[in-house]
Amino acid sequence: MSRLKYYMIVFLIISLSCGNRKNDWYRISKIDSKTFIISEPKSSQNNSCFLIMGSKEAILLDSGTGENKDETFKNIISALTDLPLTVLLSHFHFDHIGTTSEFDCIGIPEIPVIEDKMTVDSLLHLTNTETLAQKTATLKISKLFPVGKDIDLGNRKIKILYTPGHSKESISLIDNENGYLFTGDLVYNGLLLINDCDAYVRSINEIIKNSNSKYKVFGAHGRPEISYERLFKIEEAIENYRSGRDTINPFRQVNFFGTTKSIYKIGDVTFMDGYTDAFNND
Ligand SMILES: [Zn+2]
Repeated sequence: MSRLKYYMIVFLIISLSCGNRKNDWYRISKIDSKTFIISEPKSSQNNSCFLIMGSKEAILLDSGTGENKDETFKNIISALTDLPLTVLLSHFHFDHIGTTSEFDCIGIPEIPVIEDKMTVDSLLHLTNTETLAQKTATLKISKLFPVGKDIDLGNRKIKILYTPGHSKESISLIDNENGYLFTGDLVYNGLLLINDCDAYVRSINEIIKNSNSKYKVFGAHGRPEISYERLFKIEEAIENYRSGRDTINPFRQVNFFGTTKSIYKIGDVTFMDGYTDAFNND
């Protein structure tokens, strides 16, 4: 990285962190010199995206809410890297794909639930149920990424793990050399949304099996870093709920996007099961 680029990034981080830009929508934090968290604390979903750079290329895990209309997300990312960049979506919900159309290269993991939807023109037509939004979306796919195999970004390898449970296409990323896990909406700090309990428990076990307690875990909502021990707590809570579903009473009921839904609380893990009912508007 050139010295000028380095100073530009430092300036961007300081100015965005201090909120003294005209637009202080984004908060950028550095995990290391090649890994950034780009959060949207003022967004409706308090999202975070992750920029993961090697020496030859970069991956942007998710493209945010698209709720900020003052500045393109692409501008924010371009100030952080000039490497060839691919947007890889952790899943297709509206708050993760919001600015995808600003970027030239969109990649998908090679999992049948996504590949089977792709047209011969490499288009992915996403329904309301898949985006959880009024608007449907169409993505032009340029790249396919293998699942469970090394993806080389240049002196840095990451792997995709298929981790459904929040949604059927959800993935997580693992960086074994640096000890990072990026879990998308599978686990994060806050109320968890579960679509398939069996898959959810299997997916948490999969990420635990592929990592250890030295790994740093980052989710896509709320405070980005999650303690590693939290994975076990969440796994245990959802497994308890799964095996005793009929005997566990809701903690409370809430209005969730216009539908009354039950929230469960086991230990300090709060979650909603079957949240997609609120969005079944196809
Ligand atoms: Zn989601």
